[in-house]
Amino acid sequence: MSDETLGTRLHDDPSAASAEGSHFDVLVIGAGLSGIGAACHLVRKRPGTTFAILEERNAIGGTWDLFRYPGIRSDSDMSTFGYAFRPWNDSTAIADGPSILRYLAETAKAYSVDRHIRFGLKVVRASWRSESARWALDVHGPNGEKLRFSCNFLFLCTGYYEYAEGYTPRWPGTERFAGRVVHPQKWPEDLRHDGKRVVVIGSGATAVTIVPAMAAEAAQVVMLQRSPTYVVARPTEEAIAERLKQWLPTRAAHAAVRWKNILLQMYLYRLSRRKPAAMRAQLLRLAQGELGPEFNAAECFNPRYEPWDQRMCIVPDGDLFAAMRAGKASIVNGEIETFTETGLRLTSGQEIEADLIVTATGLKVRLMGGVAIEVDGAPVDIASTTAYKGVMFSDIPNLASIFGYTNASWTLKSDLIAEYVCRLLSHMDRRRYAICTPRRDDAAIADEPTLPLTSGYIERAKHLLFKQGTKKPWRVNQNYALDVMAFRFGAIEDGALEFKRREPISRAA
Ligand SMILES: Cc1cc2nc3c(=O)[nH]c(=O)nc-3n(C[C@H](O)[C@H](O)[C@H](O)COP(=O)(O)OP(=O)(O)OC[C@H]3O[C@@H](n4cnc5c(N)ncnc54)[C@H](O)[C@@H]3O)c2cc1C
Repeated sequence: MSDETLGTRLHDDPSAASAEGSHFDVLVIGAGLSGIGAACHLVRKRPGTTFAILEERNAIGGTWDLFRYPGIRSDSDMSTFGYAFRPWNDSTAIADGPSILRYLAETAKAYSVDRHIRFGLKVVRASWRSESARWALDVHGPNGEKLRFSCNFLFLCTGYYEYAEGYTPRWPGTERFAGRVVHPQKWPEDLRHDGKRVVVIGSGATAVTIVPAMAAEAAQVVMLQRSPTYVVARPTEEAIAERLKQWLPTRAAHAAVRWKNILLQMYLYRLSRRKPAAMRAQLLRLAQGELGPEFNAAECFNPRYEPWDQRMCIVPDGDLFAAMRAGKASIVNGEIETFTETGLRLTSGQEIEADLIVTATGLKVRLMGGVAIEVDGAPVDIASTTAYKGVMFSDIPNLASIFGYTNASWTLKSDLIAEYVCRLLSHMDRRRYAICTPRRDDAAIADEPTLPLTSGYIERAKHLLFKQGTKKPWRVNQNYALDVMAFRFGAIEDGALEFKRREPISRAA
């Protein structure tokens, strides 16, 4: 790649930051679902805006390219996981990873945003300068070269976890184990599991996906869980979608299914929070119905926490239950005392033999893509900031980030945020504003925990998370209807966003 395509090589001269070819109205960081969506929104709503997507990896798709474990699939329904502006166009309610990756690549192509992606560029530092009303980005190139880009508005679409490695707890004796140990985030291409005895450690979305997928060919698969999770069967096909298409134009049929799923999810979430005991009993009844009388659902699927204290696990067409009924998969509750030469020994004394151990133990949270942020020379600790509408951060100018819902499809929120950022930029252009900064000046607003989940990865990352306030616009909604009102219809100038004039945000203005 030439210098021009990569950016500007970093010199001692700070004016290098603004050299033509590396300055954009907007820089989007990350070419995953959020970054591609954000860029599509820019193309659709702000055709004159100059932008580029800087992507650390050499591929599009983020999560959907990285994860390659058997059975990788969505656990949200595709009517809400697909973009609103480019509906997922078949009746599959739950799609496999390769189909999602294809959909993302096709969307990028359809809106020509693929031409704006610059691969192999890792953003390491973003420095805001008020006097120039610009961000200067320090970027590491594919061959270790140091490059600099600059922009008027920075849009971080960097996901929420560390790409280099997943989370693996330390267990005694791992070096003794003669078989292979694999983390789902780094699935080896050559790994065979046919005829093998597999233990999957974990009980989250990844574990419940891998277990039935491997059970088809493995000699046996044991899911070892320290504590159970709520697991719900869901049909792979969205039956009503095909019927609606006979009555309504395709777009209207899609919108109807999408809203049905949005409202159903909101209703079930609210019900879970209001009547946790009734919801727990119902979830157990459903699991018991799937398992049949030979199993006791309460042993495997009755968590210590209430429904939706952690994300619920969906299993397409009840595949996990079917694998258990067929005797191909089983669930063991217990804590690992040590790895042994031939498997695992639990604190209960039980030994589990294994040829292959899969550590489906989660992610390491990393916010803002690990980018070090500075405002006028002062480093910013994101954990000390308060999220404005869950999009911007107190005292950080011209920066937005995407963090999706924890209780619904990520895309529902990423679409709304991208739409809002376009609205905000257009407003700034109209009023000839160059800088917008959320200011948390209201002393009556107290802090609250940001995410309503108690999942392990969120507990481990509490010290990294930005704060939310007790009142809007400082609350991070986990509610699509409230966010539609806030992002689509809420006043841009709401007293909490401070605006300043210099030159307009976009050269096209
Ligand atoms: C296995 C798995 C399954 C999931 N299933 C669902 C689901 O069914 N439904 C749901 O709603 N959510 C799901 N999620 C959450 C999921 O991550 C989001 O839905 C969505 O894919 C996130 O997209 P994103 O673009 O925000 O982040 P990512 O997919 O993580 O993409 C971020 C991109 O930014 C790049 N990047 C990061 N930092 C930098 C940097 N400093 N410089 C340059 N580039 C950088 C990364 O390389 C990556 O390409 C799942 C998550 C996982 C891990």
